[in-house]
Order: sequence, then structure tokens, then C-alpha cells
Amino acid sequence: MAINKIKGTYDVLPNESYLWQALEQKIRDILGLYNMKEMRTPIMEYSDVFHRHTELSDMVTKETYNFDDRGNRKLTLRPEGTAGIIRSYVENKLYTSQELEKVYYIGPNFRYERPQKGRYRQFYQFGVEAIGTIDPALDAELIILAYDFIKRLGLKGVRVRINSLGNEKSRDTYQEALKNYFIPHKDELCEDCKVRLEKNPLRILDCKVDHNHKAVKNAPTPQDYLDTESRAYFKKVLDHLNITKISYEIAPKLVRGLDYYSHTVFEIEADIEGFGAQNVLGGGGRYQNLVSELGGPNLGGIGFAFGMERLLLALEAENVDFAKEKELDAYVIVFDENLKTIATNILYELRLANLICDTNFTQKAFKGQLKQALKMKAKYLIILGDEEYQKGVVGIKDTKTELQEEVLIPKIKKYLLEKLEK
Ligand code: AMP
Repeated sequence: MAINKIKGTYDVLPNESYLWQALEQKIRDILGLYNMKEMRTPIMEYSDVFHRHTELSDMVTKETYNFDDRGNRKLTLRPEGTAGIIRSYVENKLYTSQELEKVYYIGPNFRYERPQKGRYRQFYQFGVEAIGTIDPALDAELIILAYDFIKRLGLKGVRVRINSLGNEKSRDTYQEALKNYFIPHKDELCEDCKVRLEKNPLRILDCKVDHNHKAVKNAPTPQDYLDTESRAYFKKVLDHLNITKISYEIAPKLVRGLDYYSHTVFEIEADIEGFGAQNVLGGGGRYQNLVSELGGPNLGGIGFAFGMERLLLALEAENVDFAKEKELDAYVIVFDENLKTIATNILYELRLANLICDTNFTQKAFKGQLKQALKMKAKYLIILGDEEYQKGVVGIKDTKTELQEEVLIPKIKKYLLEKLEK
């Protein structure tokens, strides 16, 4: 019996992997411009890396894949990238060598969510973390980076939304005020929000069930509770953004789902027609307690993550031609089984010269081979027949112009390199 993939997962098939590769290459190129270095951490960690808060997000309480290994250790497949990066930052004492560590990661995460378009149980994120200092210029740099990235990808209908939760004091005052505000409305809220009201009322504003509720719509915003320091910090972030003239909007109700943020939070939203409900492409914010909670010094950081499936869906929805599948430079058609070794050598020589080439391995007739060559969009056909071989030549046909020339076998490489201008 054939076995199917796990619900909420997907396969990247050979004819679509070039899109993933192109996206990953773009990520590496652009992040390199911002002097970000890649970090690779394991996809599984001790559960404590994620399960450490008293106020836990849904992602951690309800959606993680937890299991015991054969030595009865509690492990978790990572649901997000930040915690593992911080665990490694602390474990490797990266703070001793750099005041600010600017890193990025690319990789799969796992969340037990209800699968739908743009929402999977295994999904890819790339993310950025800048750990070690608190500076409004750095918050701005990450927002500029996120904006720059989506522009360079070629996405148009995308909005950058930002907000400030203020320092921890402002955030706590706001949280208290929000709680008091919602208490009279408790019975009207969904079951999850009733719990959130006690544990972390900020997350009521993110609720997918209650977001249209009048009480949620009229709730006070973090902006109303920013103290002087927090206000000044946010103003500086905006000063940095304004000088670059990137476009953004202030979203007073934006708080983000996770419970460790303070000061700047932001989200990148796709405003693309027909794109669907999962329209948040990425987001992030500043955090103050994460490093110390994972056993490190009291250092803050700021980070964001983009969902890569959603980026690809957005590119498709906007018909952005951002990647091209590599085409074959040459395809060797062999007429005679006895000449196959000659073909092997021709291919080897061409590949040494960095030409992309292939041949037929299934002994089809000429017509079948030609069909395959054209399907693979080969630019040149190298036709190796018995008669030609006796003369020491092959026929080389340009598939666009249909012109064919005879070329001495030792000259094939030079001929093609010239034609292809390589
Ligand atoms: P989060 O880590 O929840 O802030 O998510 C950051 C981004 O990751 C989101 O904006 C999505 O683009 C993406 N993302 C989160 N969860 C999923 C999921 N289950 N499937 C696909 N993409 C996701």
C-alpha cells in the first residue's frame, strides 16, 4: 500500500524546486548586504527551550510537536526560529566576542495547526535576529531590511505596519489597563480569550475569533500608555524610517502574538487581491527578556521572520517573474548504442567546461530523443551518428535557428562556448 505524506506537509517537486532555490539565494544575497551571517541550529531542541514562559502563546501550548527520545528526554520540534538561535547565542557565549550579533536563519518549523492554503504543519521561515544592543537605529534597520527585501523580490501589494508597545513599564501599565477594560466584557469573549484575559490580555487583540467584536475594536491601544522614554524611542525609530522614505503605516492595535515583545513591533502584510486569509507574510519585534530567560546576560534583541511558502504564494499571485529555471546548453542525441561511450566522454568534457548538458538513458528512437531534448529546452543538439563518427564529427543544431553545422569532435567544447558566449 502506498503511504501518503503527513497532513499539513507538502513535497517540493523537481519542477518547482528552482523557485525555492531562487528565493533562498535572494535571501542570502540581500541579508549579506546588511552584514548578516547565517546561523544553523538543530530542528529539535530540549522542550525547555520553548516551554519556559509562565504566559505561553498558543503556538507553544497547543501547537508544538513534543516527544520523548529513547533516553526519555523531552524534546520539541522547533515551532519558530528565535528561541533556538538565542539558546545557541547563550551556550556559545557569542556576547563575549561581539557587542551586536546580526544573524539570519533559513529552515523548517513545525506547528500542529489546522492546515489550509498558506498554513502548514511543516513550513519554512527565514528570519533575522540582531542581539546584544538596544538602539532605535537597529529597529529601523530591520524594518528597512524587511521592506527592501520585499521590494527586491518584486512584490508590490505589500504593506509594512508598525507599532510600539513601549518599554516594559509602559507595556505592563497598558496590559493592566487592557485587562480592566475587558473584564466587563469577559462573558462575550471566546473561551481562549477568557484565559488570555487572565494570562496575557494583549493577545486578545490578535484573536482570530474575536477580532470583529465591538469591545476588541474599541479597546485602548498601547500608544495611549507610552511613557516619555518609550515615546522618544519610537519617535527615533520613525525618524530613521522617514529619512529613507520607505512607506509604512502605524498600526495602533498591532501587538503580535508572542508575549515577549516590547518597544517596536512590525508586520508585513500582503494586500494582494485573491490572496486569501493568511495574508501576513512576516513580522517581528524587539524583545528584552529572552536572552536572560535562556540563561544569558540581560541583553535585548530584535528579530523578524517571514513565511517562505507565503512569499512564494504572493509572488505567484502577483505574477512576478522572479526566477528562471536553468535551461540545458546542450543535449546529446545518440543514434547507435555503440556510440554511447563516446557520448559519455563528450558530456564529461562539456561539464568540465561548466556547460549544462544531458543525454538520453532510455534508448529511445531519434524522435523520442528529440522530443525529450526540446522538452528540456536544450539550446543545442549534439547529434552523434555512425556515419558522422567515422568522419570524426558530430552535427550541432541550434534549436532556435534550426541551423546545423558539422563540428570536429575535439572542437565541440570550443564551438559551444563561443556560440553560448561563455
Ligand atoms: P510567526 O512566527 O507566527 O510570527 O510567523 C511569522 C510568519 O511565518 C507568518 O507571517 C507566516 O508567513 C509564517 N507562518 C507562521 N505559521 C505558519 C504556518 N503554519 N504555515 C505557513 N506559514 C506560517
